[in-house]
Amino acid sequence: MSDCCSSTDTNGALASDASCSIEVNDVVTKEDVDPVVCPSCEQSGTSIGLITVKSMLQPNALAELDPKQEFRFCASPSCEIVYFGTKGQHFRLKNLRRAVFQKSQDEQVEVCYCFGWNRIRIKTELEEDGQSTAVSSISAHIKAGRCACEINNPQGSCCLGNVAKVVKEVRESLYG
Ligand SMILES: [Zn+2]
Repeated sequence: MSDCCSSTDTNGALASDASCSIEVNDVVTKEDVDPVVCPSCEQSGTSIGLITVKSMLQPNALAELDPKQEFRFCASPSCEIVYFGTKGQHFRLKNLRRAVFQKSQDEQVEVCYCFGWNRIRIKTELEEDGQSTAVSSISAHIKAGRCACEINNPQGSCCLGNVAKVVKEVRESLYG
């Protein structure tokens, strides 16, 4: 399986789903109509692998999935839609097994889904030690080949950018 941090492109994401070779062959091509904006908030979405959509959906939503289309991830904080497809199918927050970091301000929502970092863990560490080990710890795990963002993180790609952003925000809230 490819490195999680290089799988944000569609080809890489599809290649990671190669265990289902029939579906990979049937996936629509770039020549098909390719909506790049979310049908609800009209913000552009990022390409996401089918394996991530399958991993994140609740059983009843997965049972309705039409896999013969490409999906994109909507990261808009206030938008209920998480995944939208080239053939018009879309899934909302309530259809997912996990909370979506970008769409929740809850301190318990994970930032790093693989290794269990949420806002409160980062905040507690900063309060107690004055610094955060989150980025260096996660980076070490990535380097060791342990991360599985494609099946753990709703955005289907590496969390490090989000983690660094939360560390910066929490540090500013604590120390100005
Ligand atoms: Zn949206």
